[in-house]
Amino acid sequence: MTGIKGIHHVTSIAGDPQENVDFYVGVLGMRLVKRSVNQDDPGTYHLFYADAEGHPGSDLTFFPWRHMPAGQDGVGLTVEVALAVAPGALEFWSAHLGQHGVPVGEPHVRFGEKALPFGDPHGLSLTLVETADRRDFTPWRRSPVPEASQIRGIHGIRLWERNLAATGEFLTRVLGFAALGREGAWHRFGLAGAASGGLVEVRELPAERRGTWGVGSVHHVAWRVTDERDELAIRERVQAAGQRPTGVIDRFWFKSVYFKEPGGALFELATDGPGFSVDEDPATLGEHLVLPPWLEPDRRAIEAALPPLRSGASVPG
Ligand code: ZN
Repeated sequence: MTGIKGIHHVTSIAGDPQENVDFYVGVLGMRLVKRSVNQDDPGTYHLFYADAEGHPGSDLTFFPWRHMPAGQDGVGLTVEVALAVAPGALEFWSAHLGQHGVPVGEPHVRFGEKALPFGDPHGLSLTLVETADRRDFTPWRRSPVPEASQIRGIHGIRLWERNLAATGEFLTRVLGFAALGREGAWHRFGLAGAASGGLVEVRELPAERRGTWGVGSVHHVAWRVTDERDELAIRERVQAAGQRPTGVIDRFWFKSVYFKEPGGALFELATDGPGFSVDEDPATLGEHLVLPPWLEPDRRAIEAALPPLRSGASVPG
């Protein structure tokens, strides 16, 4: 079966864009690899943080919608994003997050992996998870986080759902996941190899209300596909399963198809290429506002409407 290869990126809703940069670059030590605008709402930034090269699977992206109310966790939403770090790195992170006044939850073990939950400044739930799984990862030299402890990519996501069976069947029969068992309230699914970067954990909450998007919510999770041919093949399967995928949308750095899984969470398929260096020198990724070609004619108006943003590279650690 033509397959999804793992998580491509996770896009969330943030508050103030400068606070978002200061946290993800200045505290979490990720690289701002692309500074662009929401292609459907060019008055809002679209900020992309990743490893030094912007590998697919390492990428957290944000729409900073400052005036939106806070989101509310509920069914049909991704409620947590897990980030992979090397074995032993949580010791550094406990101290580092503490020094920066970041609220941290109880360290614990989940599915045999050491985990440290915490929140970003706008309420997004994140968890650092130690894993020895191999990752495509290039450390960021100018990061305030030492290379050995840097975030190596997105480990997995957690969903709340009203009906586990409906989402579970969609994950396994349509998207190619395997059911990997249960621990407490969480049911784990994984892609071939069940490795870091392709994990989904679902908690069934039949009586819970529907979640709502807002500041601090995950907006969507994008899954990696090799190319447009594979993307169209999976799109067909999604449609045959009764969901309603969009057509292929050119996001310039990748090509996308969006759909909702049966519980209502928004998913995307995104091609591995062409990638973030298609329109910028890899040495200076993220330092200038990049627009897709069809928005270039409006650059002056778009730049004038956006709030100023200090370069991530100069944020103090
Ligand atoms: Zn996306």
